[in-house]
Amino acid sequence: MLGYGYETLCEELHRLGKIYPFLQVGVMGESVMGKSIPALRIGQGARELHIQAAIHANEWITTPLIMQFVEDLACSYARGTAWHGSNVRRLLSEYSLWVVPMVNPDGVELVLQGVEEHPHREQLLEWNGGSLDFSGWKANIRGVDLNDQFPAYWEEEAARRVQLGPGPRDYGGEAPLTEPEAAAMVRFTEIHPFEIVVALHTQGREIYWNYRGYEPPESEMYAERLSLAGNYQAVKLSDSDAGYKDWFIQQFRKPGFTVEVGCGENPLPVESFASLYAELVPILLTAMDLQVVNQ
Ligand SMILES: [Zn+2]
Repeated sequence: MLGYGYETLCEELHRLGKIYPFLQVGVMGESVMGKSIPALRIGQGARELHIQAAIHANEWITTPLIMQFVEDLACSYARGTAWHGSNVRRLLSEYSLWVVPMVNPDGVELVLQGVEEHPHREQLLEWNGGSLDFSGWKANIRGVDLNDQFPAYWEEEAARRVQLGPGPRDYGGEAPLTEPEAAAMVRFTEIHPFEIVVALHTQGREIYWNYRGYEPPESEMYAERLSLAGNYQAVKLSDSDAGYKDWFIQQFRKPGFTVEVGCGENPLPVESFASLYAELVPILLTAMDLQVVNQ
């Protein structure tokens, strides 16, 4: 695996859909460049959970990580076997897990392929300071950081930023939800009564769980359980706004988490995939089981 781009994702979704007919593959929105943004559902339960990956372009390794998780989950479900001690059949009869494995496909393609053939080559080069190296690019293809686009104290985040226009990272756009990928995430979240959301990022081996006191009381305890599962650090953040999990917590007052997978410099090397996956699996299985154990 040299990189895991949009085409690979579509092929994998097709392949998994054939092997596991109970996987439901659909589309949750469209990117700036017109790519369908896939969403998939595993599980038949009435209660709903959400995991998303690759909202930041150069954190694309989160896509194969969540896809491997879905595949292993599907395999356990089909066989009726336990996985890391989790009763997968029970979990997936109670829950439906909705996964958006690549929120920012245009950005991921830019990081992996560069601008050689790109229709917006000149503009992108300018925004990238003239460099052909796009490995530091987090934003979407219009140079807007999608995880600074959500209507949760967006103005405060904008005032805090030093990045005043389109670029590789940290520019939140001219207003909240100007970008189709972020707007689609909001619509998708509004039509599903998610009990818990998890946003996958790299890196830092940290879990962010709070937002300006809007989080429900159980969020802190849940974060402790998640961090214990992966040997990560649960971190209480301040001075950060406009992210997806921030908006989710503020809007719905339910637990939302950002999981910063692995340690190193983004993009994390593909050679680290196996160790990243080993850390992440117990965290995600714990996330799926939080409410069940709580009852
Ligand atoms: Zn990120």
